[in-house]
Amino acid sequence: MERENRRDIKMKNQHPHPRDIPSVEVLVQKLLQDSAYAAFPRRLITYLVRDESKKMRRSILTGKTQWNEDAFFASLRMKAVPFLQSGLRRVVNATGVVIHTNIGRACLPQDTLIPLRQVAEFYCTLEYDVEKGKRGSRHAHVEALIKYLCASEDGFAVNNNAAAVLLALNTFAEGKEVLISRGELVEIGASFRIPDILSKSGAILKEVGTTNKTKLGDYEKAVTKNTGLILKVHPSNFRVVGFTQSVSLRDLVILGRKLKLPVIEDLGSGCLFNLSPYGLDEPVVAESVKSGAAVVTFSGDKLLGGPQAGIIAGQSRYVAKLKKNPLARAVRIDKLSLCALEQTLRLYSLREKPQEHIPVLNMLTRTPAQLRGDAEKLAAKLEPVKDAVDARVEKSPSLPGGGSLPDKSIESYGVALYPKFLKLNVLEAALRMNDIPVIVRIEKNRLLLDVRTLQEDDFQIIVRALSTIFKNA
Ligand SMILES: *Cc1c(COP(=O)(O)O)cnc(C)c1O
Repeated sequence: MERENRRDIKMKNQHPHPRDIPSVEVLVQKLLQDSAYAAFPRRLITYLVRDESKKMRRSILTGKTQWNEDAFFASLRMKAVPFLQSGLRRVVNATGVVIHTNIGRACLPQDTLIPLRQVAEFYCTLEYDVEKGKRGSRHAHVEALIKYLCASEDGFAVNNNAAAVLLALNTFAEGKEVLISRGELVEIGASFRIPDILSKSGAILKEVGTTNKTKLGDYEKAVTKNTGLILKVHPSNFRVVGFTQSVSLRDLVILGRKLKLPVIEDLGSGCLFNLSPYGLDEPVVAESVKSGAAVVTFSGDKLLGGPQAGIIAGQSRYVAKLKKNPLARAVRIDKLSLCALEQTLRLYSLREKPQEHIPVLNMLTRTPAQLRGDAEKLAAKLEPVKDAVDARVEKSPSLPGGGSLPDKSIESYGVALYPKFLKLNVLEAALRMNDIPVIVRIEKNRLLLDVRTLQEDDFQIIVRALSTIFKNA
């Protein structure tokens, strides 16, 4: 007590000094008493205290601050957050954007979970041929499925579609020119731009045509002795409308044959069967393969609804070259993704209606009547908080997302929340900071819970989150 007082007096009279910081041991002892850190071993606590003390010492020496125990522990707590709580964790997607890249794109089908767990927990046949009792191929597990579903001679999978494009360009056009329409030099999120991937692959970009119009003649004129291939990219996340023209894959293939150039198509989303009966017009992979592309590439976790992966389907002689490129080893798919991909492709092959088993397809093909019914169910569950918020079933156009069908908003229903005592942005933040974050949209003075992207037990999480928020408000 007396010592404490003396220190207080000293602090008032002298400049702050690092010796004001209690010893690491004293601070560690305090934290060991704190129930918030009960799960932490002593060495982790010691690490956090040392690190924080070092920071404190620096800021005292530079005269920025003086010793303050509360501030010290508050700052340490921030540093402890990654150890207190998993960073990568579940969220509730109430945005209505089905393929949302920031929150994990596709939710995997239920049928993938048991195989995934088996392959994760135990040894597996990853590169082992049980019949021959010797080394097998990682690619074998999805080859037959891709061939069947894409109507192709051969196929395999890599880490993601960006890797598939990189691999294809490097294999067929390193040091050579790649013809691509100016209208297709797209950026898919800041981390994937066709011109950047192209230059990293060692290929040389040769733009043809204009942003809105490219004709077959533009390609023909651009061909030189050093042309390596023709690339077609599905402009998946935007549409050029109005005065436009582009060359069909079929016509490019005919030109390619004449000039002995392979034609490659990056389809982006990769739709395995025709979704136009549901109002979703995306090119079907098998159609591109049938048009005669050397290979086509697409993502595993966009419209396909599987894990992150890049799928390559096409003619045997081209696919064989891709597999042999040493880069293929650097971008190979890991066993968990491969397992989930195989199981997802099995669902496409074996189920009469894959859309009933694959969440992405299920969400995209829900009818307005079903969505309305779901929204009514959710609104009814919000009865207990009705004094704090009006919850009304309303229409809400939702987006497929993930660079699929950018100009397409699909009719959906949601529960619109009109809080009586909280601002919309405060409620939005509170939902986001829930222990299982609930991600929502604010639009037109309402906070919208779009039911298209909600799964069954998400309802309970939303109800509990809102009850807690309004109890504490
Ligand atoms: C999404 C997309 C990619 C990148 O695919 P990832 O699987 O995310 O690597 C490449 N090209 C197109 C056209 C895309 O839409």
